[in-house]
Amino acid sequence: MQLIDGKATAKAIKEEIKLEVQKLVHAGRRPPHLAAILVGHDGGSETYVAYKIKDCEEVGFKSTLIRFEEDVLEQELLEKIQELNRDPGLDGFIVQLPLPGHIREQKVIETINPAKDVDGFHPVNVGRTVIGLPSFISATPFGIIELLKRYKIETSGKNCVIVGRSNIVGRPMSILMSQKSINATVTVAHSRTRDLEELCASADILIAALGAPGFIKEHMVKEGAVVIDVGTTRVPSSETKSGFRLKGDVVFNEVAPKCAFITPVPGGVGPMTRVSLLSNTVLAAKGNIFN
Ligand code: NAP
Repeated sequence: MQLIDGKATAKAIKEEIKLEVQKLVHAGRRPPHLAAILVGHDGGSETYVAYKIKDCEEVGFKSTLIRFEEDVLEQELLEKIQELNRDPGLDGFIVQLPLPGHIREQKVIETINPAKDVDGFHPVNVGRTVIGLPSFISATPFGIIELLKRYKIETSGKNCVIVGRSNIVGRPMSILMSQKSINATVTVAHSRTRDLEELCASADILIAALGAPGFIKEHMVKEGAVVIDVGTTRVPSSETKSGFRLKGDVVFNEVAPKCAFITPVPGGVGPMTRVSLLSNTVLAAKGNIFN
């Protein structure tokens, strides 16, 4: 069994990005600039945005945090997005989700200029991904593909089962795994899937993205499989300062001995998700996707 070390891989990618920023600046360009819009004071969202700003600083990007109170009008938010769309000094931006209930998330996403949509949630980017055109790919699937590539994991002709069909993880993951560059045969499972245990046990590559801690057990994994655990559920813990710890969708101790490769939680997919936003911002700064 080989552990897929997302933390170390993300660190290496960060170093590569840092060098790329230095090259851009050396060539007389300004550093890449990422902005984040944060609405309200949700604890989880505050933490995620703080990480994103810290990551930008570490690689030499400029970053801007734009805050709105919980009761901001949808129109006000949309106007800010349009302003950011027009700002030539900004390469990309994200609107941290979820948004308060009175704001239409889809409307917000569709107002973002696809060329600055470094989260890859705009339908133009999703559509371009589907037909294999250059696109901003959402951070988690982007990060998982990068792990598969860097660990030289054979995907061609393999049976890949993805549990979960969300717009940010399962569905884009299924599109990418079926592309010609990856060549896996993909099955997408969800809460209505029948015989899920047998289906998982038939997978050469099993990607668990359902958000049910410890759902994937030893008997659901084939000997020699590659297991990617996307799940990160906060469970109460008396052993940590924060009072919780992150639990994956896979029972790691049971499953790992059977695997060829497996990602741990934490330290697997999570750090790759973080670094992929930086990768997308570099692509935006270089105009690589839409030019
Ligand atoms: P989501 O929007 O809640 O989607 C969950 C998906 O799993 C749905 O498609 C759902 O099916 C399916 N599902 C739920 N319970 C199931 C069951 N018992 N059997 C089969 N399918 C089931 O979640 P998400 O945003 O994709 O996130 C999934 C997990 O990944 C969460 O733990 C989240 O925290 C984590 N995550 C981690 C990262 C990271 O960087 N590590 C990034 C994003 C998300 P239906 O469609 O039928 O409801």
